Amino acid sequence: MSLQPVPDLSDVFAYVDVHRQEFLDRLIAYLRMPSISAHGQGIAEVAQYIADVMNRIGLAARIIPAAGWPMVLAERNDVPGAPTVILYGHYDVQPPDPLDEWISPPFEPTIRDGRLYARGVGDNKGQHFAQILALESLLACRGALPCNVKVLLEGEEEIGSPQMPVFARAHRDELKADLVITSDGPVDADGRSRLRFGVRGVLSFELRAHGANRDLHSGNWGGVVPNPIWTLVHLLATMKNDQGIVTIDGFYDNVDTPTPLEQETLDGLPIDSVAVKQSLDLAEFDQPVERGFYERLSTWPTFTINGLHGGYGGPGSKTVLPHEAFAKCDVRLVESQTADEIYAKVEAHIRRHAPGVEMIRQGSMDPSKTRLDSPYADPIRRHRVKNRYSFRQWAAACPIMSLPRRSAFPPSVFPTPTPTNRTTPQTRTWRSNASTRASRPVRQCSPISGRIASRNSNLINCQDARKVKRKIP
Ligand SMILES: [Zn+2]
Repeated sequence: MSLQPVPDLSDVFAYVDVHRQEFLDRLIAYLRMPSISAHGQGIAEVAQYIADVMNRIGLAARIIPAAGWPMVLAERNDVPGAPTVILYGHYDVQPPDPLDEWISPPFEPTIRDGRLYARGVGDNKGQHFAQILALESLLACRGALPCNVKVLLEGEEEIGSPQMPVFARAHRDELKADLVITSDGPVDADGRSRLRFGVRGVLSFELRAHGANRDLHSGNWGGVVPNPIWTLVHLLATMKNDQGIVTIDGFYDNVDTPTPLEQETLDGLPIDSVAVKQSLDLAEFDQPVERGFYERLSTWPTFTINGLHGGYGGPGSKTVLPHEAFAKCDVRLVESQTADEIYAKVEAHIRRHAPGVEMIRQGSMDPSKTRLDSPYADPIRRHRVKNRYSFRQWAAACPIMSLPRRSAFPPSVFPTPTPTNRTTPQTRTWRSNASTRASRPVRQCSPISGRIASRNSNLINCQDARKVKRKIP
């Protein structure tokens, strides 16, 4: 597929510049409204508010009730047969506590030193409002959008998107799209964004080992009564060796070798490994030492012991022989691995090595990946002026990214808040010239507009079937 150069958007940018102050004022008005998903404050009002905003600019928006907080879904289909883009965001915010750490109140947006401070400005109200303003500007100048657009805003992202998988399944047809763009997440410290093409999945579980029916004295009972902490230690030692290789049968079966383009992209990502190690007071990264920084984060699964508990851990000593022990673990999943598959493999391993140990599943999300050579990737990369590099799989979980497996559409992430965006109050910021920058996401839409002649973008399914079994060192 050949792609046309990005169209001339100078009239749209001129419109944005003229409306700069108005856009900023409207963003500030939105930020004034609390929408705290953790306890529901303002959720219904803000869902209605942002649906009204989208209806006013010419999208058809509706509020869809869910078991938890509602979804807001808007759409506009101007070009039959053209690609459909979903813009994902979330209208909920984190609780603003601790309040005394805020320099200005969380719901009284304040500009200091060219930055706008408010709860939710950088996560994610600022970004998705910017995208809505971009659509508004494009409609004001051109009267129509060059592709079909849906805007999906959820109200539960900050509490882990518990309804998103159910919602995605129930609304599979309505959510059909060629591309999903989410702007959530920070830019790098140097101000450049990363285009993220997927996310590692996660599987969390707990292991429980039991000994006697109560704690016992190690002098009176040691050597007679088995110690459940040793049971777990021995079991865990059979699951990963000292070279960093997970030794559970079949664990790497669905881990694919990166394509040359993926490898080149990962190798090109900037990282100062020495500085990272220094900042963490580490002599070395984890085994296997030969793996690249981003290769570790993007292309390999992990097996992490999150915690190992049992017996006595207080001051001094206690001659206890504990009666139970717990290990909390998570596996980060890549490529075609699934949480169900890996859970079954870990469980089979436990049955073979320590059949008395209980395994309790706690939570999971499958991984997703969009091809780097998708027809959308390169135009987006080229036209995001400051973004010279891209990234394949994200280290952290982001619930929207779990949609592709269910909905067969590829996710891409275009984070735009400042690198200081954090959950800590005083640093959650957005550049106050956001109204100008806010509309720049028009650029993101343009390469994926109707100018893309063919609709064979179904090819961009994250379940891209390259099945090259990865060699385990
Ligand atoms: Zn967010």
